[in-house]
Amino acid sequence: MTKTRLLQGIGLVLAAVVLVRCIHAQLPSETEVWDPEPAVVTPGRNMAPPSDAIVLGADEWRHTDGRDLEWLVDDGVMTVAAGSGNIETIRHFGDLQLHLEWRAPVRIEGDGQGRGNSGVFLHGLYEVQILDSYRNRTYANGQAASIYKQHIPLVNAMRPPGEWQGYDIIFKAPRFAADGSLASPARMTVLHNGVLVQDHAEVFGKTVYIGQPAYSAHPPKQPLMLQDHRNPVSFRNIWVREL
Ligand code: MG
Repeated sequence: MTKTRLLQGIGLVLAAVVLVRCIHAQLPSETEVWDPEPAVVTPGRNMAPPSDAIVLGADEWRHTDGRDLEWLVDDGVMTVAAGSGNIETIRHFGDLQLHLEWRAPVRIEGDGQGRGNSGVFLHGLYEVQILDSYRNRTYANGQAASIYKQHIPLVNAMRPPGEWQGYDIIFKAPRFAADGSLASPARMTVLHNGVLVQDHAEVFGKTVYIGQPAYSAHPPKQPLMLQDHRNPVSFRNIWVREL
């Protein structure tokens, strides 16, 4: 075999290898991922709970000091009994998708932070504000759907008082290192009546009324909490899907 023919032979082999690789890389199956197969979930109508949700009816709640629920319960609706105190879920949750519906009192009393104030606290610590923010100005980072004193909602998607409002919240819990330091902050995405109001917002720490928020280490699963702010705010159709 001459040197030229040898080089021609090597060239042909290399060309063939490149061609096979090109064809192989273009196969659709290269980029198909079949497992794990996602579980089939039947979605609810009108935001009724999907089939894999944990429904948080009145029997799933108690006061944060352990007392039985003293809020008013009527036909699946829980209403704040002013002065009875905050309530929390008996179950604890980590990362979750939460749906809840709330209603500010139709009879308007007070203004600013005093009108239809409550709150849903993820992990019992990080508040998404509940407030009658329908034609009721207050500080923007304290209005309905704010992450209280941390993030202003993108829009005000309020319905009038007396109508049911929906919150859908995707909550990623904070992670803590073994020494108690923060490994990654909590994140929240919130839809208010189906409208995006918090987009993967970073939570800066425990909700505080005065001063700056900060984290302190806590277990990876915590209860949900609803606030008694002395206004008769009502709740219904609360459900979670743990992530
Ligand atoms: Mg509040």
